[in-house]
Amino acid sequence: MTISNAEWEIMRVIWTKEETTSSDIIEVLSHKTDWTASTVKTLLKRLVDKGYLVVKKNGRQFLYSPAFSEEESINKQVDDLFGKFCQRKHATILEHLLSETLMTASDVKQLQALLLSKETLEQVPCDCIPGQCRCQEHVEETR
Ligand SMILES: [Zn+2]
Repeated sequence: MTISNAEWEIMRVIWTKEETTSSDIIEVLSHKTDWTASTVKTLLKRLVDKGYLVVKKNGRQFLYSPAFSEEESINKQVDDLFGKFCQRKHATILEHLLSETLMTASDVKQLQALLLSKETLEQVPCDCIPGQCRCQEHVEETR
């Protein structure tokens, strides 16, 4: 199930607080958006319907907590995004991300270790339908 940019803003607050009320979310997001209380409540309802949030009643308040971890959800978002691109382009996209990403020495070390143990293929298979990338038209790649 995909999640909109607006819903993502809500999820970030809930992952940070772990369990929270709509008024807390409205307060946090007032620093970033001009959403009304009813906008936030609509988004919360949608997230509950999509199964991203668990809601429980505590007196007169509703408490919202995440149904999935932030890490799990980030990975899913990134997998969905990469799924939009030809598999053969993924390494180039990662090169771009690596050069743009701020890293510590220990981040670099971890990535180096990962790369050294990475299994490689003779050629990455194209997973596109004909006509949506150039791989299957035997057009020379520029790299
Ligand atoms: Zn392709």
